[in-house]
Amino acid sequence: MKKMKNHHKSTLAVHAGTATDPHHKGAVTPIHTSTAFEYLDVERHAYPRYFNTPNLTVVGEKIAALENGEAGMVFSSGMAAITTAIFAFLKQGDHAVFQNDLYGGTHHAVTKELERYGIEYTYVESMNPEDYRNAIKKNTRFIFIETPSNPLMKIIDIRAIAEIAKERGVLTLIDNTFASPINQNPIDFGIDVVLHSATKYLGGHSDISSGAIVTSHKLMEQIHASAIHFGGNLDAQACALLERSLKTLEIRVSRQNENAMAIAEFLESHPKLEAVYYPGLKSHPDYELAKSQMGGFGGMLSFEVSGNPDQFVKSLKLIAPVMSLGGVESTITCPAQTSHAKLTADQRKAVGIKDSLLRLSTGIEHVEDLIEDLKRALEV
Ligand SMILES: *Cc1c(COP(=O)(O)O)cnc(C)c1O
Repeated sequence: MKKMKNHHKSTLAVHAGTATDPHHKGAVTPIHTSTAFEYLDVERHAYPRYFNTPNLTVVGEKIAALENGEAGMVFSSGMAAITTAIFAFLKQGDHAVFQNDLYGGTHHAVTKELERYGIEYTYVESMNPEDYRNAIKKNTRFIFIETPSNPLMKIIDIRAIAEIAKERGVLTLIDNTFASPINQNPIDFGIDVVLHSATKYLGGHSDISSGAIVTSHKLMEQIHASAIHFGGNLDAQACALLERSLKTLEIRVSRQNENAMAIAEFLESHPKLEAVYYPGLKSHPDYELAKSQMGGFGGMLSFEVSGNPDQFVKSLKLIAPVMSLGGVESTITCPAQTSHAKLTADQRKAVGIKDSLLRLSTGIEHVEDLIEDLKRALEV
């Protein structure tokens, strides 16, 4: 297996982790379909649910290299990675601090699961690091953040959170799905555990369900001990598909960054739009902070249309109204009807999500075609 660090992202994306077959000398990692392995005279006992079969190891290594981390592990979904990490670090009587503005599935898992196991939690409503410091108690084990957040692309100061956590001796976990490892590497800023829904940018083609964790060897040992109980490992075939997808991660995300920037600028200058939220726009309240911790501003943006949002979405011919994000195809959702449908209208209003808000995930199509599609729909 190719262990690589200190190369550019596009090089790591192609090469890191690759384990070619010494007999046939093919150029890429073969798919090892075995779920049964010999146990005598071997270095380690391989088994899929131990997360140590060849294809699982290869993809874990590639994602770890892309995140500048020591160890990587891949799961069957983003939620499998997230819940495994959360439960690996908590026991009855513990407390954890969560950013309130989290992916809906994570938010729901915390409220529905933790209390049942006698684990306390605090949701911090703001993005102000001092509020996170104040939420830490004697029994706090970790702070869990997500940036940029969904759907308003709010940014939290990663360095400040990591510093506060270190001072107080608690761990930090971050959901880095929206940024992808191409645009943001939280481990460089002192974050302990990086989580991904690999169903999004890492897979990138809207055809693989997967998740990932990147952290130190030491913390991964602890996570691994729980992971083999929860059993959320990814199948070898899906690992191979994910490995293949990751090879183009850097070029996909670079194009998505460019497309999102151009579209955000177009939308901001359009008279029919009430607001545009993209951390790469100077008008975004967190622009400076985003610039200080992101290499690119990402492919996600949101905006408020003045008319009926359904009418607008139905008028689009190229950009598809489908849930999920991060694929090569541009997609659009209405958070009030999808990710935030479970909140009441008042709750949504309190967090700034209007019924007319639309969230766009830019794909890798030609930007002129995307802008043309938006322009036409705005004229309807
Ligand atoms: C989709 C998503 C998840 C959950 O991932 P699944 O692969 O659907 O389980 C977690 N966090 C973020 C930010 C997501 O967008």
